Amino acid sequence: MKITLKDGSFKEYDKAMSVYEIASDISEGLARMACAGELDGKVVDLRTIVDQDSSLNIVTFNDAAGKAAYRHTTSHVLAQAVKRLYPEAKLAIGPSIDTGFYYDFDLPSLDRAALDALEVEMKKIIKEGADLVRFTLPRAEAIALMQSKNEPYKVELIEDLPVDAELSFYQQGDFVDLCAGPHLMSTKNIKAFKLRILKHLS
Ligand SMILES: [Zn+2]
Repeated sequence: MKITLKDGSFKEYDKAMSVYEIASDISEGLARMACAGELDGKVVDLRTIVDQDSSLNIVTFNDAAGKAAYRHTTSHVLAQAVKRLYPEAKLAIGPSIDTGFYYDFDLPSLDRAALDALEVEMKKIIKEGADLVRFTLPRAEAIALMQSKNEPYKVELIEDLPVDAELSFYQQGDFVDLCAGPHLMSTKNIKAFKLRILKHLS
């Protein structure tokens, strides 16, 4: 297959390759910076397998789509830290936004000291450097997985999705989240973050 890069040059491969493998083949430095790919104009995960002639752009934190993948990965790290420190917390959603990311949890209000403790736990998770592993499940199994983790909002989210929607999950170490991605390859690729209290909802 022939992969046309953003600068008009191209690479040829005789086997299917993930976006990340292609980035690594272009340069190790680019692979280290890679946050996502743009495959025929569509933002895709670094784990996406490319198996036909395509145009591919590797996006980094300098690109809006790269920033989104980076920030959204950081939101998963926050969720993992919250579940470690507050096992009874329930997860809702945690998207990236223009100025960073947020994650909506069902748990009592947190003060600055609690956020500081979460930042410490997040740094620990980043240092552990678990790979994010993507997998998909049929609807019934996806619901069963989220029920087994006592995550009623995730069960609702799955039930609200169209029946034919692909249900993907990303796992990092002991933490798994329902998620469409894309994500960085590992939590260790997160360099810096800061938690802020925006407002108390209750
Ligand atoms: Zn996610």
